[in-house]
Amino acid sequence: MPFQVPRGTADLLPEDTRLWRYVESLIHRLCEKFNYEEIRTPMFEQTELFNRGVGETTDIVEKEMYTFQSRGGDSLTLKPEGTAPVVRSYVENKMYGDPNQPVKLYYVSPMFRYERPQAGRQRQFHQFGVEAIGSHDPAIDAEVISLAWSFFKELELSGLSLEINSVGCPTCRPLHREKLIQYLTPHKEELCKDCKSRLERNPLRILDCKVDRCREIVQHAPTITEYLCGECDSHFEQVKSYLDELGIPYLVNPRLVRGLDYYTRTSFEIMDESIGAKSTVCGGGRYNGLVKEIGGPDQPGIGFGLGLERLMLALKGKGIELPYPKGIDFYVIALGEAPARMRVKILQMLRAAGFRAETDYMERKMKAQLKAADRLGARYALILGDEELNQGIVQVKNLDNGEQQEVMIDHLIENCKELTKKNWEM
Ligand code: ATP
Ligand code: MG
Repeated sequence: MPFQVPRGTADLLPEDTRLWRYVESLIHRLCEKFNYEEIRTPMFEQTELFNRGVGETTDIVEKEMYTFQSRGGDSLTLKPEGTAPVVRSYVENKMYGDPNQPVKLYYVSPMFRYERPQAGRQRQFHQFGVEAIGSHDPAIDAEVISLAWSFFKELELSGLSLEINSVGCPTCRPLHREKLIQYLTPHKEELCKDCKSRLERNPLRILDCKVDRCREIVQHAPTITEYLCGECDSHFEQVKSYLDELGIPYLVNPRLVRGLDYYTRTSFEIMDESIGAKSTVCGGGRYNGLVKEIGGPDQPGIGFGLGLERLMLALKGKGIELPYPKGIDFYVIALGEAPARMRVKILQMLRAAGFRAETDYMERKMKAQLKAADRLGARYALILGDEELNQGIVQVKNLDNGEQQEVMIDHLIENCKELTKKNWEM
């Protein structure tokens, strides 16, 4: 084979894009209902944005970024996640000054991370994400979680679990950090290389390590939940009570920490065990320190990132068929030169009226054209020969039951509408 897609990337072929478009349109409709507006940021940003916004001690910054030097000498990075770019844009465009607060944004975008490819883990993947910036209200935490939850619900994906936690704030974290270091230090030699260096730099990150031995060790580590300050504790209680109000089931997982440094307070993940080891489909939380870190005012935020490849795996794993339209409405068969000229007009009329219509461009015989129509899932064939043309009619053949009738070309569209309407009513 001369060329292949780069490792960790995939083509989305027509059979995939149909499904993807259906999911994307659901995203747009859902976000509209929740009053989130779409934002599109560039595919790459200054590398420094991610160093600061994601954090020097994260997997992303330590080993996963696609960083390159532009011809002008700037260091640029393909976006590995969506929050830092959205916050950069929020600050750059002074959205904190907008009278509509909080600022509620969403995106659907490719992301790039240099990872070891496996099912549900690619080097180019896609995320649907939302960010609500400017409010401390625990009700917005619940709204963000409920948006993700509604999304899965509308897709009829069941069997998902929601885990939540609070990771505290700069007031309560130092004490926990101290306790954590005390606990981990005797195990230092057993930790992986990354975690050894994280022990001093950012021990909280060790709780999120994927290495088996590290995971075992942290099983018994002191949890942040035991050290929450009064305000964080009360915030967490309110988020939970809002979720109860909404009837969204959750599990408190005191060991849940997000892999990104700027997270504060609410942290959550939505998992689907059916997709295997990489079961987290959606992860998010509060990032009260981020806007300031990126050079903006001290504004709080909360959001999530939801992996669309993993979502597709979950849909597939559960055998969920989405109701996107399959097949075309009309296949136009023209036999002879004059009819062949007429068919382009018929196609034009059908399409202008909103029908999905196709014809033959391969000089196939009549029988082969009917077969082609069948392959495309056409509901009707419109057949036009010299004789029909002379009489100003077309034969309309129902490809489900073989019934055929003549229709005046002058009234073709009305008749087609009538026919397809009847078919829908059945
Ligand atoms: P993981 O623990 O699986 O590495 P993460 O903590 O790095 O995930 P986030 O940065 O929170 O993930 O991204 C949010 C979501 O994006 C994940 O829950 C997942 O669904 C998806 N995602 C992350 N990395 C990848 C990837 N390399 N390929 C496909 N999807 C991904
Ligand atoms: Mg990761």
